[in-house]
Amino acid sequence: MPQRFDGQTAIITGGASGIGAGIARRLAAEGAMLSLWDMDEAALAQTNTAHTVTLDVTDPDAVHRAAETTAAALGKIDILITSAGITGPNHPTWEYPVAAWDRVIDINLKGVFYCCRAVVPFMQANGYGRIVNIASIAGKEGNPNASAYSASKAGVIGLTKSLGKELAASEIRVNCVTPAAVKTPIFDQMTEQQIDWMLSKIPIGRFGAIDEVASLILWLASAECGFSTGAVFDVSGGRATY
Ligand code: NAD
Repeated sequence: MPQRFDGQTAIITGGASGIGAGIARRLAAEGAMLSLWDMDEAALAQTNTAHTVTLDVTDPDAVHRAAETTAAALGKIDILITSAGITGPNHPTWEYPVAAWDRVIDINLKGVFYCCRAVVPFMQANGYGRIVNIASIAGKEGNPNASAYSASKAGVIGLTKSLGKELAASEIRVNCVTPAAVKTPIFDQMTEQQIDWMLSKIPIGRFGAIDEVASLILWLASAECGFSTGAVFDVSGGRATY
């Protein structure tokens, strides 16, 4: 029986862990050929995915090279999911260390820009593409003690809206998702107090599941997503108010 992603290729940044790894499992199960890009070489090796690239998404030249080698290895690029990200430490804004703030913006916002910038020309050559950026509810609501993270994710929302409109006349769709908290290794970067606060804000009263986020992302990455672009999709357990 034909599957939804038969014959399609997908890059997943941050694909070695958490939400990215969950998406990778689901896309592979539905027929896609994958390239996982991540800075954690050991975790990449454990995924048993044929094509992987060890890179830091804050290096635009490395990202450009990765797009070229991936397109050459897989033949084309149909899908880009940008999941690589960090939370950064939890501090009030006036005490936030400048270097930590810069690192969060470099990975979460500039890294997404570099990946989109490098991959879009291959999608244009392909005449088709689906980009799904993983932002966060923090980018819409602004989490206290996480201003760098919240600002970076608000930036991803703005980038997604611009790029979606730029490509709207083509067959390339660009959308983002704004999950509330999902228990993954990223929780190790935050204080217990921060995690408890995030849970308290979710009306459904529990953390999201990786598969619940992946289900939405797979639809956005599929050909079925034809009339949505430059848009922001909620998966926040009722937390989002718009
Ligand atoms: P995770 O820590 O499990 O996975 C993140 C992956 O990104 C890791 O494999 C890590 O090695 C990789 N990575 C980090 N910095 C990198 C860099 N500079 N270059 C290349 N790879 C890098 O986290 P997760 O929970 O799966 O988060 C995935 C995405 O979802 C992130 O963008 C995160 O901000 C977003 N998000 C997560 C949650 C949540 O609660 N888990 C909620 C909303 C949004």
